[in-house]
Amino acid sequence: MDRCPLCRAVLNGAETCRRCRAELQAAQRAECEGRALADAAMHCLSLGHAAAAARLLRRALVLHAAPQTLALWRILAATSRQAGDVAAGEPQGA
Ligand SMILES: [Zn+2]
Repeated sequence: MDRCPLCRAVLNGAETCRRCRAELQAAQRAECEGRALADAAMHCLSLGHAAAAARLLRRALVLHAAPQTLALWRILAATSRQAGDVAAGEPQGA
């Protein structure tokens, strides 16, 4: 998280925004966990486990709907629909 989600101040790694004093530890933790789940999904995809990757991406998007994660989800959903092997659809909150 480079900027405060409330006031857009640059954070420089801080857990408390210097401008609006927002405590951002929980949001930063959710972002980190979402990225870890997206990384695990990429690993599953590299092994050819599309269904497991889809489950991990859904969880990642619930935690932190990063544009890269959403793009990966859409690519996986589109290719899975073509293959007919994974139930697709937009995850909630994305
Ligand atoms: Zn702020």
